[in-house]
Amino acid sequence: MKSDFPALKDWIYLDSAATAQKPKCVIDAISNFYQEEYATVHRAVYQMAAESTEKYSSVRRKVASWIHARQEEEIIFTKGTTDAINLIARSLGDLVVEEGDEILITAMEHHANIIPWQMLAKRKKARLVVAPLDERGDIDVSQFASLLSARTKIVSFTHISNVLGTINPVKELVKIARRYPLYIVVDGAQGIVHEKVDVQDFDVDFYAFSGHKIYGPTGVGILYGKKEILDMMPPVQGGGDMVDTVSFETASYQETPLKFEAGTPMIASVIGLGTAVDYIQNLSFDHEKELLQYAEAKLSSIEGLKILANPKQRAPLFTFTLEGLHPLDIANLLSFKKIAIRTGTFCAQPLLHSLGIQAACRVSFGIYNSREDVDALYKALMDIRALALV
Ligand code: PLP
Repeated sequence: MKSDFPALKDWIYLDSAATAQKPKCVIDAISNFYQEEYATVHRAVYQMAAESTEKYSSVRRKVASWIHARQEEEIIFTKGTTDAINLIARSLGDLVVEEGDEILITAMEHHANIIPWQMLAKRKKARLVVAPLDERGDIDVSQFASLLSARTKIVSFTHISNVLGTINPVKELVKIARRYPLYIVVDGAQGIVHEKVDVQDFDVDFYAFSGHKIYGPTGVGILYGKKEILDMMPPVQGGGDMVDTVSFETASYQETPLKFEAGTPMIASVIGLGTAVDYIQNLSFDHEKELLQYAEAKLSSIEGLKILANPKQRAPLFTFTLEGLHPLDIANLLSFKKIAIRTGTFCAQPLLHSLGIQAACRVSFGIYNSREDVDALYKALMDIRALALV
């Protein structure tokens, strides 16, 4: 598998939760499109544009079928997860949230699933409520349930934590939340990478993810939304392509999903995303599960190394601290050995602070990682630790 990824020639890449490397098929799809087929979509009638439009639109159908949406109109192309959540907060949020209402998130959210709701709460004089975690690092389900009320208008939680690796029980949380007439948003930035996603089975109202974490290009992502909800939501950006008729006084908008896609879209990135979906659809999750177990066991044996949290189910990513060493020093020393890990607060400052730490190291696996990578990391960490002890 590693051979599919040209950028990984001499690196051990353990930062896929930040962004995944790109297989050659995705790079080639984008490059071929620019070199041989490039043209705009939707507006032009010449054959190249018609072909480009067909190629671009086929990705919408492909994504819809992959995540089992009812129809392709439920798939909106966005810049990524952040863009998608901001769209929901601006459009649906401004429509349904009123003064005194509540938006419920959880303590393990990425900033992308905190700030848009915080901004909405400020705009509307609403309250952002945070469901706590239990001592294992799972959402405390009974507290989650007790924080819901008739005031809750939107519930938004992550499918998989980008820090702890916790895989949240989406269906269980949705079932509990559905006791109230509210909207359910799932941040799927990490979930789509490691779990089979069926939006109808989940019964979520929205599911958002980014192309670059599923071996696709940056600058493109997906917002899935139930059609009847998208239909009632106003667009948040105006411009070309999202309109039907325009005068200086007024305009009529396109139907869902085009009304949410103002301007010339990221055509090449969407096409690259289509190839990434083909690629990821053929992957099995067994390899990464096995790798996680191997890594947890091996790294835990290092004296002073502490893996944060112990969730019931963990995706192939975890965060650790190593006694006596600053995470930044660890990452820098590993970088000299051409091992890439992530350090800092992982865009989840409130979570890290609630765990009482300022920074940590994160290891996250992709399809290209192997036991040899874990062995190399283990050896490098042992060397670094020995240095620190001198
Ligand atoms: N949510 C989670 C759980 C993430 O891990 C990330 C990215 O790291 C995001 C949201 C934001 O994704 P993007 O930066 O691609 O918009």
